[in-house]
Amino acid sequence: MSTTRVNLLGLDRSRMRAFFAQIGEKPFRAEQVMKWIYHQHVTDFSQMSDLGRGLRTLLAEIAEVAPPTTVLDRQGVDGTRKWLLGTDSVNAVETVYIPEPSRGTLCVSSQVGCGLNCRFCSTATQGFNRNLDASEIIGQVWVASHALGNLPHQLRRITNVVMMGMGEPLLNFDNVVCAMDVMRDDLGFGLASKRVTLSTAGLVPMIDRLGEVSDVSLAVSLHAPNDDLRTRLVPLNRKYPIAELLEACARYAARKPRSSITFEYTLMDGVNDHPEHARQLVRLMRRLPAKVNLIPFNPFSGTEFRRSTPEAIAAFQQILMHAGVMAMVRRTRGDDIDAACGQLKGMVADRTRRAAEFRRRIEEGMTHVA
Ligand code: SAH
Repeated sequence: MSTTRVNLLGLDRSRMRAFFAQIGEKPFRAEQVMKWIYHQHVTDFSQMSDLGRGLRTLLAEIAEVAPPTTVLDRQGVDGTRKWLLGTDSVNAVETVYIPEPSRGTLCVSSQVGCGLNCRFCSTATQGFNRNLDASEIIGQVWVASHALGNLPHQLRRITNVVMMGMGEPLLNFDNVVCAMDVMRDDLGFGLASKRVTLSTAGLVPMIDRLGEVSDVSLAVSLHAPNDDLRTRLVPLNRKYPIAELLEACARYAARKPRSSITFEYTLMDGVNDHPEHARQLVRLMRRLPAKVNLIPFNPFSGTEFRRSTPEAIAAFQQILMHAGVMAMVRRTRGDDIDAACGQLKGMVADRTRRAAEFRRRIEEGMTHVA
């Protein structure tokens, strides 16, 4: 029965070794099977030709390599590609590939929906269903890599992975860390740690835990330079205010010499894009090895926010740069297929009643930042 089989796709190297030890096999079997799965994209044990026939038969009985199913596969005019991947009979998550001349970035989801309720993010309007398991997270990289014809040691299509899709990765800590380990393992996708980025809305204790087990790049969704405004945009700020968040970032950065933290700042017209906000941001950023990623707000249906004007965006960036704070404007990609930052929705069987509440607020015209 497939429900009782172990999905080998979700296992990192040590868990894969433990699995083979349990069935009385040598650890190198783990390495052979991982290469088949991640380097050759083979899911059928009968094709794993360097395993003995007996082992192949046994594996087919007790295990499987089961990536998520592709429900939709769309390509935008700028080459951005978005997959809707079914994770069970009612839920699906989105994964986005963003090609650029010198790199290819895959944006991966960590949860079905999101429970954090950031006011300007469309994933929040979908509510929350559940955490993805490790196979569903690494499975997104597997599906994209397979579809793109990614080759492990030659022309790599996927050079970077960002945990910036649906969900809050630090609320699904163990599964996300396990999947990121496979992304970075030579027997997996072989990406350097600095090319795997975890983005968080700012769960302070989990940032410290991440620093203990991993050295991936860290991005933090800041979006406001003072607590009043940030609490309105990112309600999690009430629990972990800016000062505490930045201290955790400094601790994380201190573990990784020569690395900086990326701060994401979505620019919304008349909300957080005033020159005074930029000056406040400068004061926060000066104390850290930081880069600021300015994201022009991407609209979605029912939102009360608007994108900042190009002039306001340029002025904001100038203030940061003149003060010596590295600041880039993230070019909007894939918005024709709703694949831009903050536009991912997937199919979420909401268990939080948030989706219903959002629809009610729109209908009542009460969409102001509460
Ligand atoms: N929960 C994590 C991972 C999501 S990353 C986090 O908050 O970091 C997605 C990024 O896009 C975050 O920085 C998020 O704040 C930003 N974002 C959300 N909605 C957006 C929108 N409508 N336009 C632009 N950026 C948005």
